Amino acid sequence: MRRLPPISYAIIAYMLLAFGWWSILLLRKNEEAHVARVDKLAIELAVQQQIQRPSDFRKTENYRLLTARFERQQRMILGEALLLILSLSGGLYLLFRNLRKEISAAEQQRNFLLSITHELKSPLAGIRLILETFQRRRELKPELQLKLSTNALAETDRLTALVNDLLLSAKLESMYQLNREEIDFGGLVQDAADRVVLKYRGATLHVDIEPDLPLLTGDRPGLTSVVVNLLENAAKYSQPHPVIHTTLQRGGETEIVWTVKDNGTGIPDGEKSRVWTKFYRVGNEDTRTTKGTGLGLFIVKQIIDKHGGQIELTDNQPRGSVFRVYLPVN
Ligand code: ADP
Repeated sequence: MRRLPPISYAIIAYMLLAFGWWSILLLRKNEEAHVARVDKLAIELAVQQQIQRPSDFRKTENYRLLTARFERQQRMILGEALLLILSLSGGLYLLFRNLRKEISAAEQQRNFLLSITHELKSPLAGIRLILETFQRRRELKPELQLKLSTNALAETDRLTALVNDLLLSAKLESMYQLNREEIDFGGLVQDAADRVVLKYRGATLHVDIEPDLPLLTGDRPGLTSVVVNLLENAAKYSQPHPVIHTTLQRGGETEIVWTVKDNGTGIPDGEKSRVWTKFYRVGNEDTRTTKGTGLGLFIVKQIIDKHGGQIELTDNQPRGSVFRVYLPVN
């Protein structure tokens, strides 16, 4: 995330120091005024011959009142200064926190626009190229025709998936209704794993599903999206040779635990809590090489929450990430 310019910190430091300095100055001036008042009183009492010896002066009622007033004033100045510095620091903290949030939201928006533009443009360009080839060379060999039309279909699938993710994430924030039915979660994992192996040719996937697991009551499209997103991410962020281990087990009487471990780039600790945010992607769009929109983990988290489940993210050893999902079963 972008930081505030150093000059802002310098100005705040200056303001706080200036307040401190003015408070000290005020305390000193008050002390000087007090000393002058005491001297004046001592002279007046001596002139009026109300005291015989200088040591008697400190015992007089007038001196006691003067000192009490001085101490009250000193406490008042200190209290006020402290309150001012505290409220100023508090106000500035809140102001900067909001400013940082705004900066981060603007940056995410920019990242999202850049990535979505890229994600939309590249399949469209691919399809256009294929259609142009068909138009220009009418007598294409059947094998080539098949290859080109398969590619075009894959590109339209990519576009459809993107539009579906956008729609789903918009719905999840307002009106998404779970369409509950009995689901064999192990079946979903196996199907998604088979698809990921086909899509990411270099990937090795180890699937370990405990037999006779209880069914769960859930939303099939939603849970399919969870499974596909986590497995695809594991393959996408572990290039060039993804090795993915996924296990599904019973976790006590009331839940099942699904784990996905990869050997990829991993996610730094500072980013772990932020990857669930809509459009959030680790790094910067200008330097990032992996395609994506930052919607996947947002969708995953929302759907798991709606099923009363939980998701954890930790580091894999020696490298990579571990996503662990807990889902309640019947
Ligand atoms: P996308 O993959 O479209 O960018 P996601 O919401 O699925 O969006 O993920 C958000 C970010 O979290 C990704 O941009 C990536 O930086 C990081 N991430 C997700 N899964 C993994 C993973 N298995 N390994 C490393 N980084 C990951």
